[in-house]
Amino acid sequence: MQTKHHSGDDTSSAPASSRPSTSQSSSFSADSDSVSLPDSFPPADPQSASSAQPPAAGDRRPTGRSTQCVHAGEARQKDSGSITTPIYTAATFTFESTDDVLRFVEGQDLREEYGRYGNPNEKSVEAKIAALENCEQAILYGSGMAAIVGLLMTKLSSGDEIVFFDQCYHRSREFCAKHLSRFGVVTRQVTTGDYDAMESAINERTKLLVSESPTNPHLSVIDLEKFAAIGKANEVETLIDATLATPINMNPTDYGIDYVLHSATKYLGGHNDLLAGVLCGSAEQLEPIRKMRGILGNISTPHNLYLLERGLKTFELRMQRQNENGLRVARFLEAHPRVQRVYYPGLESHPTHEIAAAQMRGFGGLITFTLRDADWKQTARVVDAARIPRIAPSLGGVESLIEQPLVMSYYHCSPEDRQRFGIEDNMIRMSCGIENGDDLIADLDQALSV
Ligand SMILES: *Cc1c(COP(=O)(O)O)cnc(C)c1O
Repeated sequence: MQTKHHSGDDTSSAPASSRPSTSQSSSFSADSDSVSLPDSFPPADPQSASSAQPPAAGDRRPTGRSTQCVHAGEARQKDSGSITTPIYTAATFTFESTDDVLRFVEGQDLREEYGRYGNPNEKSVEAKIAALENCEQAILYGSGMAAIVGLLMTKLSSGDEIVFFDQCYHRSREFCAKHLSRFGVVTRQVTTGDYDAMESAINERTKLLVSESPTNPHLSVIDLEKFAAIGKANEVETLIDATLATPINMNPTDYGIDYVLHSATKYLGGHNDLLAGVLCGSAEQLEPIRKMRGILGNISTPHNLYLLERGLKTFELRMQRQNENGLRVARFLEAHPRVQRVYYPGLESHPTHEIAAAQMRGFGGLITFTLRDADWKQTARVVDAARIPRIAPSLGGVESLIEQPLVMSYYHCSPEDRQRFGIEDNMIRMSCGIENGDDLIADLDQALSV
């Protein structure tokens, strides 16, 4: 394991962090290192390192997803010739002299300064994710929730309002309803997919429109073009939590969405062994959010980011299997006599299937379904009978997971609230991992026969 800090003037083996940025706009030291480039494949030439620049003739930039997963964001030649990104455990980064410091604070030398503002492991993962999301930049956080809170705390002031579609991650809702309200921010929830209601809820104080796509746990897919258009027409920014979609299956900024958020804990990390969050968008729009992260300190750690980088290498391969397993298991469930209803955007029966088919390249591994004529106990018996999926919250990892939302995330919710959020007693949520689809189906078949 390498901890040696890379020397700033050795450009031949500069890590991603040392590359100049086209978006550098401040000489304030806390920010001068907070840049990351999405380009990076091939990552070598600092002069042409910008995703905005078309590749020179005969110099085709590889755009295959797995090629990006493996190489984007990383320097071709790293310290000591290491093929993997060394883990930089440094809390602070040294300067050789006062001149060295001056070059840095004046913005001539792009390098690291202090761990809360950035780290080489963070830079390379941010650049990789930005490349996959077709965005100029990405900002990493300690968790998905930290990313949501980081964005909202930067964007909103007392008196501002936000509007969001009501099917959403319960802690996001809780933060808005219970905590943003303490700072005088008003949250307006409207029915998911009701675009007219969303537009009517906008007024001159509205600062942000928020939705997930697909939503959790009902897997409703939002028409991103419509959503972005409402934002643009009203001069309000838009945020999509695309955790369930992933950049492999969907790229919201291609439709005009301003900010894309992922809980990297889920598919991006993919191994149920880390927590992280990421926000993607334009360099200009992310700049104040990055500054705020330097103050809030809701960052990830170098070891954690190394795991995320490693997980991302196989991202497309994992998603291909998870998309395949998701669709196969959903079709199996839909045809099963004990199953009442299946929520999966890849099924023709899903109310938002048409939008999903138009805007997504795959539908992911998450499936929600309800059992016919089953109370909560009979439903729990099916969950308990499954032998392959483990009982746990979360989703997106290589291990399949299964849970009953009623007892897992909504146990302390009142029956009225559960009804409002569409959480039924006979509901099961399964996250398909990368196991073989035949095994998952055979296992569910035996579990459904108890
Ligand atoms: C898990 C999740 C989050 C929160 O992410 P953490 O990494 O657990 O903080 C936010 N949104 C969605 C859709 C999620 O599934």
